[in-house]
Amino acid sequence: MMNYQLKCKDLGFDSCDFISTGNSDNELKRKFYFHTMISHEKELKQMAEEKKIELHNLVKRILDNQN
Ligand SMILES: [Zn+2]
Repeated sequence: MMNYQLKCKDLGFDSCDFISTGNSDNELKRKFYFHTMISHEKELKQMAEEKKIELHNLVKRILDNQN
């Protein structure tokens, strides 16, 4: 059973329908960051540092809510 999920759309990647899933928040984070590296490389490159920090915090907040 996949207990955790994270939608790219919830993180501001509006044109992406990808949903990461995982049995643990660590597994999900691994899958999600792998996906962003492959599919959102360009967006990440153009993203300001503080935006990236915001993104990490948002990921953490969404996962904390699923605990
Ligand atoms: Zn995506």
